Amino acid sequence: MDREGHCQETLALIGGYDPLTLSRIVEEKVTKPSLEGQLRRYYRFRPTRFYGGIFTADAVGCNLRCIFCWSFRHVVNMELGRFYSPKEVAKILIDGARRRGFSKVRVSGAEPTIGRGHLIELIEELEGSGLLFILETNAILLSDKNYARDLARDHIHVRVSLKGTTPEQFSKLTGAKEEGFFLQLEGLRNLLESGASVHVSAVISFSKEEEVSQLLERLRELDPTLVRDFEPELVVLYPSVRERLRKARITPEIAVMPDGSLVSGKI
Ligand code: SF4
Repeated sequence: MDREGHCQETLALIGGYDPLTLSRIVEEKVTKPSLEGQLRRYYRFRPTRFYGGIFTADAVGCNLRCIFCWSFRHVVNMELGRFYSPKEVAKILIDGARRRGFSKVRVSGAEPTIGRGHLIELIEELEGSGLLFILETNAILLSDKNYARDLARDHIHVRVSLKGTTPEQFSKLTGAKEEGFFLQLEGLRNLLESGASVHVSAVISFSKEEEVSQLLERLRELDPTLVRDFEPELVVLYPSVRERLRKARITPEIAVMPDGSLVSGKI
């Protein structure tokens, strides 16, 4: 990573950053134009058990800095992995899913909407493969209506993952300005308006019951089906996540240990 890039990123992160500004800085580092379309950095491709079996491409770089992120190393070290074209990624995903008899593929490990040209081309390459592409996103960049509209396709399902249940909590957990919470909801609204297939998950590990209820009320106002299909998300206390939480003196109400056991009120 170059010196100037480091400076820009550090400045953007000081004092409650704007995720849209950070998106632009990160995009410059993890994407690159080429004759084969916009390239994006990925660090691995793997089968996973989620969604009943899904072949997964793990990308590098994100427009948030969630303190509980399991993939934090690949969020901040943007020189990891290598650049891939949309065609290359599509081929790896299709071959990997077919070999294992999976019907779904996804991009994980980072924010897949960074690098719009790359993502849209990847989605187009997957069209007609018979595979469902699950787009897991924080939806910040989908606050752009046109981008959200581009995702309303038969072979895409969007999982919007909200980082906390209130604007204050979003800011505390991500270090971003509270406005970022509303950008997420704006992205969600745009997806609904565009007719995209979508459901919402939210990190509830740091929330009291009334804060979860408040969020569900916001979701109900957008569309009652979001409440029906709501997916509560608990933070997994991997050693690195635990250490970051401990240093920040943030204690989850409830979380999951790497062995799957539940813990509450301590880290
Ligand atoms: S939005 Fe997701 S990938 Fe980005 S920092 Fe948060 S948890 Fe990690």
